[in-house]
Amino acid sequence: MSEQVVQPRIRGFISLTAHPDGCAANVRKQIDVAQAMAGDSAGSEGLHHVLVVGSSTGYGLASTLCARFGYGAETVGVCLERPSEEDRAGSAGWYNLAEAHRLAAAEGRALHTINGDAFSHEVKQQVVDYLRARDAQLDLVVYSLASPVRQDPDSDTTWRSVLKPIGETYTGKSIDLRRGHVVDAHIEPADEDEVASTVRVMGGEDWRLWIEALRDGGVLADGARTVAFSYIGPEVSHAIYRHGTIGRAKEDLEASAAGLRTELSGSGGGAWVSINKAVVTQASAAIPGVPLYMSMLFDVMKAQDTHEGPIEQIGRMFRDHLGPGLTPTTDDEGRIRLDDLEMRDDVQAEVARRWAEVTTESLAELADFAGYQRYFEQLFGFSVTGIDYEAPTEIHRTLA
Ligand code: NAD
Repeated sequence: MSEQVVQPRIRGFISLTAHPDGCAANVRKQIDVAQAMAGDSAGSEGLHHVLVVGSSTGYGLASTLCARFGYGAETVGVCLERPSEEDRAGSAGWYNLAEAHRLAAAEGRALHTINGDAFSHEVKQQVVDYLRARDAQLDLVVYSLASPVRQDPDSDTTWRSVLKPIGETYTGKSIDLRRGHVVDAHIEPADEDEVASTVRVMGGEDWRLWIEALRDGGVLADGARTVAFSYIGPEVSHAIYRHGTIGRAKEDLEASAAGLRTELSGSGGGAWVSINKAVVTQASAAIPGVPLYMSMLFDVMKAQDTHEGPIEQIGRMFRDHLGPGLTPTTDDEGRIRLDDLEMRDDVQAEVARRWAEVTTESLAELADFAGYQRYFEQLFGFSVTGIDYEAPTEIHRTLA
């Protein structure tokens, strides 16, 4: 037992602390949305076993909560989170899953987490062993890793992903997160090694290795499906995102989907990339320009009542595309498009107008940066309504 008052210690796009009760409240809110969106499918017999790789935050957490609490599937998650130690609080993802485990245990239905390096052979084998011991076969594998580094499981090589343009220097608007100032970001182009490393970390290779390990381990059901996530976004971000190093990795991920689809479609299953909306997560906060873009986008979408967070997006993915008995609707390139509302012409035109005009002085008028900051703090369990941040709280939580 160790009770503490946990205060936010936010440094730019990272937070050094996380509040257990705030994270728990966020998870309960997301579960309510997941259950409402699943509606009559909750407890459906069509989705028995689901694996989520990257299960503790962002799109992976939303997938875990929709699968487990929306559709009643027994769910295994893989993540890399920090439990509390002595008098040091754990990470937000740890506290998210502690609450999800507590609620799943109360219902008596399995939610299992393996906290370790998803890129390693060992963790893949642990998932296979866990499923075999339960005689379980996966209906769905959600691949939602976002990582800055990948240790090659077969050598001493460590690959690092970088967020850089390719070919020429990027100059574009960004926001200084500490001061709330609109600034010009200048980023030198990546060299060939950096491009190749980013593809190794965020491309499709590890996704393919997961599916092969699960297939060879005999834990994929006939008709198993898999999905991984990608982003396209607005013209203003293309130089740094879609046409940059991370975009190369996403092209590789999308190409992998085509190969996996051929392999899995034999038994009636399939593989898809879903292009998702920009949402505030630990991964997206680190991309230059994206926090400024999201501050405008959310303002525009909220005015239209079309704004969604990860749980609404993933709720839609299950409800409209990958839920039991459904065949996904895709674009011409075979991708699920959950970014349809973000990419609407009127939304993009309004964001582009604001983007062209915005300065530090007009930030409050043209963007909801305060709203963005609130979402960011909430990722770590801060600024959550109903939480007493002055009160000591138990920082040691387990994945029951
Ligand atoms: P996130 O940072 O919220 O989540 C990343 C997850 O990966 C966490 O569960 C973390 O524990 C896990 N992880 C990281 N390294 C790991 C490792 N070595 N081993 C095991 N687990 C590890 O990220 P996110 O924004 O939800 O991104 C998930 C996917 O969605 C990414 O492919 C991202 O590109 C894509 N996406 C994100 C957005 C967005 O706006 N956030 C939009 C579209 C697509």
